[in-house]
Amino acid sequence: MTFKSHLESRGERCPKCDSRAIKTSDTPKKIRTDTVHVAMFCATCGARWRNIYTLSKSEEL
Ligand SMILES: [Zn+2]
Repeated sequence: MTFKSHLESRGERCPKCDSRAIKTSDTPKKIRTDTVHVAMFCATCGARWRNIYTLSKSEEL
């Protein structure tokens, strides 16, 4: 697995071992108003990485 295939799985699988047992290891951290970094963790192999989300849409609640 690579980060490219991690993105192709829409972030559902670990970039190292392909496990779906991935968790958020930290509360989302706002870096800028339109970018959020989230620390991720794989419960199967212990890999850690960071997902970076950018604002793509807004809607009323
Ligand atoms: Zn893993």
